[in-house]
Amino acid sequence: MHARQGATARVNAVAVIFTLVCSMGSASRAAAQAQPVPVTSAKPGWQWSFDSAQTVVNTVRAGRDLSPAKWPGGAKAAVLLSFDVDNETVALRYGEPTVGSLSEAQYGARVGLQRIVSLLDRYQLPATFFVPSVSLRLTPTMADVIKKSGRHEFAVHGWIHELNTTLPDSVERRLLTQAIAELTQLTGTKPVGYRAPSWNFSPNTLSIVRDLGFRYESSLMSDDRPYELLQRGAPSGMVEIPVQWILDDAPLFDPRGQRYASPREIAQVWIDEFDKALEEHSMVVLTLHPHISGHRSRIVALELFLAHIRKLPKGTVWFGTHAQAADYVRAEAKLGEPVARR
Ligand SMILES: [Zn+2]
Repeated sequence: MHARQGATARVNAVAVIFTLVCSMGSASRAAAQAQPVPVTSAKPGWQWSFDSAQTVVNTVRAGRDLSPAKWPGGAKAAVLLSFDVDNETVALRYGEPTVGSLSEAQYGARVGLQRIVSLLDRYQLPATFFVPSVSLRLTPTMADVIKKSGRHEFAVHGWIHELNTTLPDSVERRLLTQAIAELTQLTGTKPVGYRAPSWNFSPNTLSIVRDLGFRYESSLMSDDRPYELLQRGAPSGMVEIPVQWILDDAPLFDPRGQRYASPREIAQVWIDEFDKALEEHSMVVLTLHPHISGHRSRIVALELFLAHIRKLPKGTVWFGTHAQAADYVRAEAKLGEPVARR
């Protein structure tokens, strides 16, 4: 994820879907949604018909709750740690990187990643690393750092951290196909999970993710618990591992951002989220970045969070990769395999 660009992208995404549905008849909607074009002017919602509103809402929506009765080993709650290894790709994607912004981002590959992996080693915890393939091609040695313990998962995070809602279907599909091939080649494992760069999910993203054989998705926010994605009202068999800005380091740890918060204060937010998840026998998903949380004063926040959980009796909390969690809830809920698109 990356916060500031993400906010802009979300606005664009709404505008794109909104204008397509509201400016065209129902017969042309499906074709229009296959080729979203960014626009700057859109009708306000009070000029929409209910049918238009429902069509937009149903593009991708939360379906069945996939919470298991118990987490693996009888645990009462699950904690999934994810690290989006964006590094230089966030600066590169707009085509106007500066040497300064690239250097700030390279910190993730050069320093932050190793610091995070060392902390995970100390606690013997698994994590999922969502990696834009250009990021890994720029620093291929990161693959060995992540692979060394044998506990972690590689998953797809776009080719160059592209913003899906700005792309036609064919380009989004080509970049994602390329990203899977490159990540497979660089890591030696075919990834099964997808997280949209900046959580920027286009009207075409779910179709592409289904067609390319992913088993879970992790960019959307309809619940704290895992759920099945519905596409135009129909079950997809795709497991969603939901995320949340509250649990993302990018907007809150930016020292030049308007929403900057102290890492130690944010650790308390994560702890509060976890304590409630434990009460509800639910799940917490943290989204962090090596170039952000890999800094010394921020790794302290992650350590405070992990130390809080470590104080509980053994077996109370299950830590897993996103793929392990998705497979587990899929089996427990008897969801079956992902459903091919009709
Ligand atoms: Zn990202």
